[in-house]
Amino acid sequence: MHKTKPVKIGSVTIGNGNPVAVQSMTKTDSRDLKSTLAQIRRLEELGCEIIRVSIPDTLAAENIKSLKKQIHIPLVADIHYDYRLAVQSINNGADKIRINPGNIGSNEKLKLVVNAAKNRNIPIRIGLNSGSLPKSLNSIKSQETKFIKSAIDYIRLFESWDFDKTVISLKSTDVNTTISAYRAISKITRYPLHLGITESGPPGYGTVKSSIGIGILLNEGIGDTIRVSLTSEPEEEVKTAYQILQVLNLRSLPYEIISCPTCSRCKTQLVDIVKKLESELQKRIAVKKIKKYNKPVKIAVMGCVVNGPGEAKHVDIGIAGGTNTGLLFMRGKPIKKIPPSRWVEEILNQFDKLVCHT
Ligand code: SF4
Repeated sequence: MHKTKPVKIGSVTIGNGNPVAVQSMTKTDSRDLKSTLAQIRRLEELGCEIIRVSIPDTLAAENIKSLKKQIHIPLVADIHYDYRLAVQSINNGADKIRINPGNIGSNEKLKLVVNAAKNRNIPIRIGLNSGSLPKSLNSIKSQETKFIKSAIDYIRLFESWDFDKTVISLKSTDVNTTISAYRAISKITRYPLHLGITESGPPGYGTVKSSIGIGILLNEGIGDTIRVSLTSEPEEEVKTAYQILQVLNLRSLPYEIISCPTCSRCKTQLVDIVKKLESELQKRIAVKKIKKYNKPVKIAVMGCVVNGPGEAKHVDIGIAGGTNTGLLFMRGKPIKKIPPSRWVEEILNQFDKLVCHT
């Protein structure tokens, strides 16, 4: 387990063994207050715990004031190139800023940003990406070495200015490079680490890439907050992040579906049933604001008697399919037979009862 120091981002503390926090980034034009606010609200409902907003100009930086009044999760301002936007964002109420120090211009400008963050007592993420490492490191061949050298140089520079509310990220599009870079930095620093595979692509391949990269590191006890970067709606990023954490038993969603892949023995439209069930469960999480669970309600939906009763018996709610019917199990006990057309409705009823009483 990589022991990190706690860093407070608004109401959320990361590091020091706190739960790995889920974050995402808005994809609206951040100068458009209305659509940005609406997107953050949707992400809040899905359990997003920290939201990052890119700040390309002064209007976007100005909008931070209004956003802060209307959202409930910490806001991170993401700034490139212009130190004045970073200072403006800090002064307008950002709970943290993310910069790639190498593109801010000069150490004098960087120091102004660090001092502004120090004055407001907020953290800075040194966010290094494989696509924008300092040109001065071009002679170094190994991407991992470039990441580490760059991160250490900035950590020391910040410390020389008496700033220690630092969070680090070293994101590459290559999973193996990302993993080795984070492993190496975790041996050197105790600042919390923000994990991600940058520009990982669309859902599907990008989900697999992110899950493997982030998952391997988390499984080694490395990482304090995660963002899954997908070419998709940010809702997909939050959903995937929680799924990664649930698979590793680090965080819990309200539910886990165990379902068989189906084969010729399956006599129901199991694929459609499970799709509908998952979509209905997701709606419930959003609408009922079900976010915090010690453990998920496990739901098994199985196609036939080969593995059906065995799996259905060992979960909270289980259905073992037959021909035009299914046997419902509740915490190991067979309860009743129900037709496939009513499986989703019945499972949701039982889920609601368990959720209210657990
Ligand atoms: Fe096939 Fe039955 Fe196994 Fe599902 S549980 S994959 S239907 S054998």
